[in-house]
Amino acid sequence: MMPLVDSGAVPLTFWGREFEDSATETLFRESRFDETRLQLRHLFRAVAVLSLMVLVMLAAFGMAVPQLKPVGAAGGVIAFCSSLGGLWILGRARTPRNLETIFVIWQWCAVLAVILLIYAHDGRALFLVFLLPTALYLSAQISFQLCLGGGISVSLVLLYAYQGLPGSDTWQWGVALTVLLLNVSLAFCVVRTNRLQRLQWVSAQAERLARQRQRESEGQLQAVFQAVPLPLVVTRREDGRIMKFNEATLRFYGGPESELRSLKAYEIYVNPERRALLDSQIESQGHVTDFQLSLRIREGTRNVILAAAPVELAGEPCLVSALVDVTERTAVEQQVRYAAHHDALTGLPNRAAFQEHLQAALSGRSARQGVCLLLVDLDGLKDANDSLGHDAGDAVLCEIARRLVRLAGAGPMVARLGGDEFVIMLEASDALRQGQRIAHAIVSDLRRPFAHARHHLSTRVSIGIASCPEHDCSYRELMKAADLALYAAKQQGRNRYVVYAPDMRQVVQARLNLLRAMAEALERDEIEPFYQPKISLTTGQLEGFEALARWRRSPTSVLGPASFEMALSDPEMSVLLSERIIARVTRDVSGWIKAGYDCGRIAINLSAAQFSQRDLAANLLGQFRAGGVDPSCFDVEITETVFLGRDIGQVRATLHALRMMGVGVSFDDFGTGYAALVHLKQLPIDVIKIDRGFVKDIERDPFDTAIVRAVIDLGRELKMGVVAEGVETAGQARFLEDCGCEVAQGFLFYRPMPASDVAALLERESETVALSRRALFA
Ligand code: C2E
Ligand code: CA
Ligand code: CA
Repeated sequence: MMPLVDSGAVPLTFWGREFEDSATETLFRESRFDETRLQLRHLFRAVAVLSLMVLVMLAAFGMAVPQLKPVGAAGGVIAFCSSLGGLWILGRARTPRNLETIFVIWQWCAVLAVILLIYAHDGRALFLVFLLPTALYLSAQISFQLCLGGGISVSLVLLYAYQGLPGSDTWQWGVALTVLLLNVSLAFCVVRTNRLQRLQWVSAQAERLARQRQRESEGQLQAVFQAVPLPLVVTRREDGRIMKFNEATLRFYGGPESELRSLKAYEIYVNPERRALLDSQIESQGHVTDFQLSLRIREGTRNVILAAAPVELAGEPCLVSALVDVTERTAVEQQVRYAAHHDALTGLPNRAAFQEHLQAALSGRSARQGVCLLLVDLDGLKDANDSLGHDAGDAVLCEIARRLVRLAGAGPMVARLGGDEFVIMLEASDALRQGQRIAHAIVSDLRRPFAHARHHLSTRVSIGIASCPEHDCSYRELMKAADLALYAAKQQGRNRYVVYAPDMRQVVQARLNLLRAMAEALERDEIEPFYQPKISLTTGQLEGFEALARWRRSPTSVLGPASFEMALSDPEMSVLLSERIIARVTRDVSGWIKAGYDCGRIAINLSAAQFSQRDLAANLLGQFRAGGVDPSCFDVEITETVFLGRDIGQVRATLHALRMMGVGVSFDDFGTGYAALVHLKQLPIDVIKIDRGFVKDIERDPFDTAIVRAVIDLGRELKMGVVAEGVETAGQARFLEDCGCEVAQGFLFYRPMPASDVAALLERESETVALSRRALFA
């Protein structure tokens, strides 16, 4: 393809009006090659015919001077032959220069022919003197130089030849002038033609160039459109028909091209009504960038994000849209969102989801709407985990979750806050009342044990309830209120629900203050045991002591456990206190033994909170040994609170381990708790301690009398020792002895005393002391 010339201003030469730039001129000539050759062909043919006519006429009419007839004939033959030769060789010409060469050779052959005609005194010669230059100027497109040079030189040669003819003198100047004028006007004519042709050519070139560039850019655009890896679709706005699409669209759609072409875009919308929304957004914003859409394609439904803008295609208003397939991304996002808001084990909403939900409920609440929170805390989960493994713990959690969901019903939200803590949130005009109803149902339902791998697992539950507007309506305060209520429920022995009350805050504050004070007391070594003797009612002899914790705040002020009861129920502090008491007791006992005294068995009280330690038995035994005293010198006293919220199997295992090493087990405060008889059967118990409450009115209250008698009989039957607590009068002691109670403890004999007083007591202890003591109530 011929290169194109840019359509800027292309300068032309002053004289010939050809392109100044030779390369452009060459291009121009080359572009006209065929036409120039055609012109030459016409010229050569015309001249061939003319010269043939001349030859025929010569043959028919002869010449003015007959002897010059061969000269004229030779001219005709030369013209004829050179034209034929020219025609033949034109077919072989390849370049404009070839054509010029052919033309110039032919031109001089024609000149020679005309000169011969002139010399043959042919009257037609004068006509040819004018005709030939005219033909040479006008008939062929050759360079201006050649054209002008050829024209002038041919005219001069012919003039010269002509003026040699007889009779030409009279015409001579006239002919010369005519030839001159002819040359000048023909040269102007050529110049003008040159200019016009070149201007035309340049503008035609410019047009072609513009068209070619447009074609190129359209091609590029198409290639880019096809190469974009995102699905691109052009649809007609009027009816949504798919007008154009790229390969990515075809791949995305997954169906044959013909099917896609026959579709209207909204026919694959999962919700065709989205089209109206899309249209209205484009109408109002001019375009859309993140329009979410579900499309039904060959292999199913895909979620896409669509960006679209109006375009015109083939004069019709259309919409060009790019699609981003976000199906996988949305699925992953949904999974991540689900995981972020749900508990993996139970599938319940987690703490984050609950927080969002509660905050939204509180902020969007109407004046008549209430929001109630139930904080649900499980006991026994740790036991299930420790004794039966984590599978059992997981099974408990899943079962609890199921039950909570069922008991809460359709409206409320049940979430797992973590560990063994769940929460239920409900919104209603009587939210608090409904909350209490659900809490009640939960407490009674969770008493029911459930089976896991041939074990019966049971849990106990504590529930704290707080409600908006009754208690507080801010997120933090409402949560805190529910937490305090939960704490109170645990304190009250668990397996219950407690509704928040404002004074709970003070209780918690008091507890924190006490724990701090106890920690300081331990640090200053202000905690010590006092000892209360246990006396045999039959012999009056000292049987042993019960160690009771005391807080010596100053040399004169000694506080009993009533002042720090909360510390004894705190899981961590109770362990620290116990360690300190045991350390002091073993030190004291080892001192008495070394001094040669028989102090009998020493009883140590264990709190329920201490049983949360899995290795309690090993710890206690370790502490006795560390103090250098044999474990068989000790008893432990437990109350029924150790079973609350605890697996009885674990308590039994601990007590067994202690008993194996000679430690005695006393069942303290017998009769004040629940199901004590069951525990007597299930546990390894050596001694039953009758609670002070029954002893107090033993002589007056027939009910207490009956109970005490029954307990003493029970002890005898079960071969357990019986100790009566809180014996303050001789009457009580007598009565107890009459009933068969062997050992008593109380102010009648001794108040709890410091270790220093015990040594003095042991010093005095003797047969006589015992007898005189016996005389106290005998
Ligand atoms: P408890 O085990 O029932 O201890 C007997 C309580 O009765 C003692 O109160 C004792 O001083 C009191 N008492 C004894 N005889 C009489 C009497 O004749 N009349 C009256 N009114 N009271 C009598 P204390 O020492 O104040 O202890 C109270 C409770 O504190 C104990 O009850 C025990 O449960 C707990 N406790 C005491 N020391 C410890 C300890 O070291 N560890 C643990 N975990 N608990 C302890
Ligand atoms: Ca006790
Ligand atoms: Ca007691």
